[in-house]
Amino acid sequence: MAKSKISRRDLIKNASLAGAGAAAGSLITTTPAVGQAALAPQVPTRWDREADVVVIGAGATGMPAAIVAREAGSSVIVVDSNADIGGHAICSGANLPLGGGTSIQKKAGIQDSPDLVFRDLTDWSVTQPNGAPDYRYNDHEIIRAFADNCAPTFEFLVAHGVTFVNEKPDGRAGSAHGNSVPRQMHVWAGDWPQVQTGVPTDMAVRKSTSNGNGLMRPLEASARKIGVEFLLQHKMTAIYREGPRSGRVLGIAVTNNGRTINIRARKAVVVGTGGVTGNVNFRRMFDPRLTEEYCGLAGMPWSDQDASGEIASMAIGASLWGLNNFSQESGSALTKAGKIGCQYGYVNLTWMPGSRVFEQAGASGLRVRDWQDVIMVNMLGKRFYDETGEDFPGNQYNQIKDYKQGSHLNGENVKWDSYNFINAAMQGVGDGKNGGGPIWAIFDADAAAREQWMVAQPWVDVKNGFFFSGNSLAELAGKIKMKYQRVNMPPANLEETVRRYNSFVDAGRDADFDKPTPKYKIAKGPFYAAWSTPVIHDTRAGLRINANCQVMDFDGQVIAGLYCGGESAGGFSMHGLARCLCQGYIAGRHAHTLKAV
Ligand SMILES: Cc1cc2nc3c(=O)[nH]c(=O)nc-3n(C[C@H](O)[C@H](O)[C@H](O)COP(=O)(O)OP(=O)(O)OC[C@H]3O[C@@H](n4cnc5c(N)ncnc54)[C@H](O)[C@@H]3O)c2cc1C
Repeated sequence: MAKSKISRRDLIKNASLAGAGAAAGSLITTTPAVGQAALAPQVPTRWDREADVVVIGAGATGMPAAIVAREAGSSVIVVDSNADIGGHAICSGANLPLGGGTSIQKKAGIQDSPDLVFRDLTDWSVTQPNGAPDYRYNDHEIIRAFADNCAPTFEFLVAHGVTFVNEKPDGRAGSAHGNSVPRQMHVWAGDWPQVQTGVPTDMAVRKSTSNGNGLMRPLEASARKIGVEFLLQHKMTAIYREGPRSGRVLGIAVTNNGRTINIRARKAVVVGTGGVTGNVNFRRMFDPRLTEEYCGLAGMPWSDQDASGEIASMAIGASLWGLNNFSQESGSALTKAGKIGCQYGYVNLTWMPGSRVFEQAGASGLRVRDWQDVIMVNMLGKRFYDETGEDFPGNQYNQIKDYKQGSHLNGENVKWDSYNFINAAMQGVGDGKNGGGPIWAIFDADAAAREQWMVAQPWVDVKNGFFFSGNSLAELAGKIKMKYQRVNMPPANLEETVRRYNSFVDAGRDADFDKPTPKYKIAKGPFYAAWSTPVIHDTRAGLRINANCQVMDFDGQVIAGLYCGGESAGGFSMHGLARCLCQGYIAGRHAHTLKAV
């Protein structure tokens, strides 16, 4: 292995910087250096705290792990770098595909079983219209464990106060949860103040709204009731193992208010840190295109996904797994920005001024109802694709008609369509650099009126350079300057792009990109440029685990006392909550069975 250039002093400096972040606010912004993965930390001589099971991350993985282990009799400490519990799960839409023969499926007369789940999620023959195989690279051992624990995880949630807005499972939302039968449940948002808005869901839609507050708040209440201890604003910076690459895991280091605290784990440490989308160097190991400008990460700035769990585990010998899944072009792993003019433009998450993290989010964004109202241009002011183009497709119930598990005939029911807006956006401008650079939605005063957009705070973020306006197109292009705009937009380019597009509106045909019947000219000032660079939504590859969610090293050996689940775990390409909750459930149960030392 190449010798790392990162010194132990760097490591300590990095750890204390993370602490400084904790002192300053709720969100830790210091991203761990990927090079830390090569450095095993020295075991401390003194422990400040201890518990049987120490869980890192109070999100979809960590919460069930903590509850299951505690209920079985282990003492549990959960640490989280955020000032509140919930992780991305609490910001989520809480569309939850847990099947395999749940009580709700049975009540609805839906025939499902662990075997059916297993066969669905390992079906090599399922492909998307762009050729992406949703399930082909899944690890069969990991999927078998999921299939067997899917229904028990669902019943666990029900037993801990989670309720649903639909009475029977459907196939709505989500991706890669199997084609055979409906499995999707939608969690009732509840009466809690939403982290997105600071207030409960509107009374008018409260009964029918699904989101992650209704998933995570009942789990939090259950955990607290049975004595799980939470240490918030405590960021894990290292995992300790007996030897640098040998022996069992002993505990973790966390920083809080600039202070390092060592927490001993008598049985096990569970990593539920949620993935890597926020760590540019880490995510680029999977896909070199994912450069800095992809800063509109779904679920942030509520909680970070900075690869800290992966890096700390790799430092003590853990391997990564199922890496092909990360860059697979299916489902919502990468999406168009459904809201424009703000940094965090994920379509289903709107940060409102009442949210605790609104200041960090900067603006709520303008929701695009009709992509005919904008054109999208790259850094050079040039169009690159039909603006009505879609996200990557993803498999779910009934998406392939006349589906036959494992049959080559399934391919005959997929209409080949290899092109996609996101890949075109990420192609770049030919300056030899990776990453597509900023993508701007350009529109005029008439479009703003049609969409009923207010082009002011809190909707758009002028302060941080995610929204610009000008009285002429040339003035607008000249103003677009922000940290990711690595080349200036030539005003003549933008003028020519708009002139040509307007001629397509006259002709009724987009001669460049076949946008279906371009409808509106861009003609009436003021003119606007709104940030609409694609959004990274989730992580689909991570640490190598086995069926018990035990983390494994590069030789396929279990690292005793180390567990992982959710977006930080590899081998399982499924968007979202189901795999995370289920793997947390598995990890907590198995961790409890270890002998305390
Ligand atoms: C807007 C949005 C909508 C979504 N909608 C859906 C949906 O409808 N259905 C679905 O199935 N999925 C959905 N998802 C995905 C789903 O929420 C995530 O896949 C899931 O929450 C990931 O679970 P996790 O446990 O891996 O991570 P998380 O739930 O993110 O939890 C990770 C936790 O670890 C903490 N942490 C990270 N690093 C450290 C550290 N070093 N020290 C201490 N703590 C740390 C974080 O603060 C966080 O609290 C959505 C996600 C988003 C963002």
